[in-house]
Formats: sequence, C-alpha cells, structure tokens
Amino acid sequence: MLHIDSERLWSSLMELARIGATPKGGVRRLALSEEDRGGRDCFVAWCRAAGMAVDVDAIGNIFARRTGTEPGLAPVAMGSHLDSQPSGGKFDGAYGVMAGLEVVRTLDQAGVRTRAPLEVVAWTNEEGSRFVPTLMGSGVYAGVHTLEHALQQRDVEGTSVRDALAAIGYAGSAPAHPLAAYFEAHIEQGPVLEEQGRTIGVVLGALGQRWFDVVVLGQDVHAGPTPMQTRRDALLAASRLVGEVHRIGSTYPDYARGTVGFMAVKPNSRNVVPGEVRMSVDLRSAEWSTLDAMVQDLERCIGTVQDDCRVEVRLDEVVAFPPSRFAADLVGSVRDAAERLGHPHLDIVSGAAHDAVYLSRIAPTAMIFVPCAGGISHNELESARPEHLAAGCDVLLHAVLRRAQVAGADRLAAGG
Ligand SMILES: [Zn+2]
Repeated sequence: MLHIDSERLWSSLMELARIGATPKGGVRRLALSEEDRGGRDCFVAWCRAAGMAVDVDAIGNIFARRTGTEPGLAPVAMGSHLDSQPSGGKFDGAYGVMAGLEVVRTLDQAGVRTRAPLEVVAWTNEEGSRFVPTLMGSGVYAGVHTLEHALQQRDVEGTSVRDALAAIGYAGSAPAHPLAAYFEAHIEQGPVLEEQGRTIGVVLGALGQRWFDVVVLGQDVHAGPTPMQTRRDALLAASRLVGEVHRIGSTYPDYARGTVGFMAVKPNSRNVVPGEVRMSVDLRSAEWSTLDAMVQDLERCIGTVQDDCRVEVRLDEVVAFPPSRFAADLVGSVRDAAERLGHPHLDIVSGAAHDAVYLSRIAPTAMIFVPCAGGISHNELESARPEHLAAGCDVLLHAVLRRAQVAGADRLAAGG
C-alpha cells in the first residue's frame, strides 16, 4: 500500500509553526493578521511548487487544485484551516491542510494520477477569535452566512473582514464550485483516542449545540440581619442549576454534554446575599430530539428552582446548531482505510464544530481524528505524535483515492 512521507509531513508542520510561533511552543496566527498572511503565503508557495493551480475566493478561502485525468469531474477536496487561537497550538487546523498537501506530494512522487481532480483547501477564520462568527470561510462557502454579512464583521479595533482581507492580499474572486467530497483530518482535541489506545477516530458526525444566556434575579440584602428563609438568593438558585445542567449532560444518551462555563455574580461581596447572577448554559447531543428533551428538562428545573428560591430566571437561546451526520460511504472508506493500514480505530462523534460540519451541508463529507497529548488543544502546549499524524494522513490518502479513483485502475484490474 502507498504511504505518505511521515518526515516530510512533520517538517512541513514544524516549518509552518514557525510563522507566528510563541515562546511556549505554540502558534498565534489570528485570522487575516500578518501572521495569517505568512502562513497562507507559505502554503500557497508549497502548492505552486507541487504544480497546483491556486485560487482564492471572495472570503479568502484558498483552493489549490491538482488536475485529474477527467477534468470535468467535480474535485475531491481535503482541508482545514491555517488560522489559530490567540495562544493556539501547532496542529489544530494546520494538520488538515498540511495532510492534504502531503497526499498530493505523495501521489506526485509515486506518479499516481486520479480521475477526479484533487483540491487542498484552507478555509478562512475557522477559530472566530478575531472575527465572529467562527467557521466563517466554510460558512460562506456552504451558504450558511452571506458573503456581505461576513465581510462587514469587525474586530475589537474596528477593522472589517473586507479591509483585513484586502490588506493581506487574499480578497479573491474565484466562484464557488461543487465538490464531489470533502475530507478533513484533525487532531481530536479531546482525550478519548489516547485513553483507549486508538490511533484513528472514524468521525460519524458532530454534536448539535444549543447555547443559552441565563439571568437569575433575586434580591441583594445584608448577610447578617436577613434570616435564611426570607432570602431570594440568586447564587443559590444558579448553583442548583449548575448541578442540574451537569445531571442533564450526564444522563441523556447520544453523547450528551451539559456545561455552565461562565458566571457573573452581583454584587459579589462577601457579606451580601447575591441578588443577580448571569450565566451560560451549553447543551450538546448527537440527536436533535435528545437536545429538545434536554432543553425541556432544563426548563422544568428552572420552574422548580424559581419556586424554591423565590427568584426569577430568564432563559435566552443564543445559538442553535443542528447535529451533523457525515456521509456513510465516506465514513466507511475512512474506517476501511484504517483497517487495511492496520491502525487501531474507534467510531467517534466530534464534540466541537469544524469546517467539515458546514461542508457536510453541501457535499458528502467525512473527518479523520488522530490523538493529541492529554486531549489538550486551543493551548500552546498542544502536541501530537509524528507517527499518529502520519497514520491519519495515510488514512486520508486511501480514503481520497477510493473516492477520486486512480486513473487506469479499471484497465489494470481488467488486465489491460
Ligand atoms: Zn481546528
């Protein structure tokens, strides 16, 4: 079986990681910054050196194309993102793009042509750290946001996406085109593969998400003179809700999760009963119906807590993101490639959103996860082992070859 060049993949990742490198070994390449330009320029130069034609669209997504023997066929795409969190790691996003490039380099070296063209794609602003929303480039491509809406977004300094794209020279004009398939390799960003000793995560889809802003209104009063039974303690109510959210995340099926990650207490003074709490609730599941049930459960708990604590609770939904299910045949080819290559694998559902989630709305899509140390990501300490990255890239290679079809393979198989 054909294998990618593990050392070449690793050294490309390390060279890319020098652009925006941080002292603790991480990367800071905020979307559309000078560092992002540097990362993009590096990727584009490598693609051109590999003989690929490079196009940029109006939101700055980069498409590098290797022609197929049947250029009329829609391309099979591989990719991810080159932007990072403010203190991000070397592998989140960069791995998927470099893995795509490594697949092309491997095929070039082996002299293998495919019937369908191949594309390596770098999507703009996946992280959403500098400009909101996240998954901006893939979202525009998939028609989730309009181009105009994305271009108008501004960072905290007031710079628009439109101006930032122009400033780094990545405001292109390539039209959107149909994709025959989209594959994204990514570090898991969670601990499951490492804990279970598996090298390849066969990603079935991604969790749906419903996010809420919650305001709990009680009354702030003196902690000494106010008897316990007359209090309207907003923090007591909020604390009970934290427990309920944890219970909901722990007891529902379909990879449910429930998290309160933000809380602000007013007046936050040691001798005052808290009168107001603002908090977030993040509920996730692989099934929409389960998410609905989780939200109904939360609403019931809120009713009880309001009565028990004599507070008012306002629940405001701020994000509703449906679960996604990847294309069964592509997922099967990922599993099959892992099997044939002899890599221990595990079916897994992505708890995080990725560009692949939006791509799956317009093209058959699959993802390949590889382990990262301790499941740590969005952190300068993010780390992955070269042999795991190579294994994921080999799986990508063979899944892509199956979809794009090796040119002349049928002739060969027929003995011609
Ligand atoms: Zn990522």
